[in-house]
Amino acid sequence: MPKIPIIDLRAQYLTIQEEIDAAVRRSIEKTAFIGGEEHEAFEREFAAYTQVRFCAGVANGTDALVLALRAMGVGPGDRVLTTPYTFIATVEAITLNGAIPVFADIDPVTYTISPEAVEKAIESMPSAERATVKVLLPVHLYGQPAEMPRLLEIAARHGLMVLEDCAQSHGATIGGRKVGSYGLAATYSFYPGKNLGAYGDAGAIVTNDPVINEKIRSVRNHGRTDRYFHTVEGVNSRLDGIQAAVLRVKLRRLDEWNRLRREFASLYDGELSTCHRIVRPIIDEGAVYHLYTIRHPERERLREFLAQEGIAAAVHYPLPLHLQPAFSRLGLAEGAFPEAEAASRDVLSLPLYPEMGADTVRFVAAKIREFEES
Ligand SMILES: *Cc1c(COP(=O)(O)O)cnc(C)c1O
Repeated sequence: MPKIPIIDLRAQYLTIQEEIDAAVRRSIEKTAFIGGEEHEAFEREFAAYTQVRFCAGVANGTDALVLALRAMGVGPGDRVLTTPYTFIATVEAITLNGAIPVFADIDPVTYTISPEAVEKAIESMPSAERATVKVLLPVHLYGQPAEMPRLLEIAARHGLMVLEDCAQSHGATIGGRKVGSYGLAATYSFYPGKNLGAYGDAGAIVTNDPVINEKIRSVRNHGRTDRYFHTVEGVNSRLDGIQAAVLRVKLRRLDEWNRLRREFASLYDGELSTCHRIVRPIIDEGAVYHLYTIRHPERERLREFLAQEGIAAAVHYPLPLHLQPAFSRLGLAEGAFPEAEAASRDVLSLPLYPEMGADTVRFVAAKIREFEES
């Protein structure tokens, strides 16, 4: 019995092997390890793909968030409003800038930050605290776009800048317009398992704002304006030439891969529609299904059953960030964000990747039906 992984990067490599090998070889032959033509070309192509003016490549998606918040002027004493139900990097980027995270609960249907909860969080703050909130940071989780039009309206009313975390949503759209083009800036991760993944760590910030773009370009490269002339204290967070070359090859496939993800998501949706204990993700033509995450009241038993059948499944995420020991100093207790907590208890991500094929989707779904009927 073949094992079914959550994602299969080797299967993907085999479909693009010649082009990847040639791109890597080209980078090495040109010794274009840092910067170079491929790097500049990728920045141009990814900005165009995201429908924004500027793209700055950086070392990873976490740095992208850290540098974007810094370029937006977020520092000690400032507050950033975000979701407790995301990968920890979103919130690390806030605290690494010395700022304070403020959480608003998620919408249980989209798993993204709830506009009502954002409004309530702002309104329930004492006015001195409210004045320190600078940025609203929604995450398009699992490839599902957050409700950007409403979030932008709330942010505008309260004078907040908006930064989108697009680490799980390369190519996702709202009404045909790409996520990442709504906020003042947006960040991407090209961690290998993301919808657009490098062959190592990589990330980027996109923006239409020339000032933010210039700040990030300087800070990511030691605050340089010339080789040994530094206007500000920066960091070393650059996108490698070889990674840029790999990303260029893969960017050309991204729309097709996302189309397959959507196709398999809707196939799962139909195949699991008779399982009444399962909550399926919404079908949204703008979503890119980085993960296909269901809810089940007996999540652990289902996961063990699937594991015995050779099918991998994973929990994204087992503990919301406000309950993580790393953020215990925020003093938030269980019950603070009930929707995030409820999701953490019963979500389960099923195998979903462009190379898996419809038969494998049907096979996984049939095994889940078997579990439900036993
Ligand atoms: C992956 C991820 C990040 C961090 O990206 P890295 O490239 O791993 O640093 C940030 N936010 C979210 C939501 C992510 O999924």
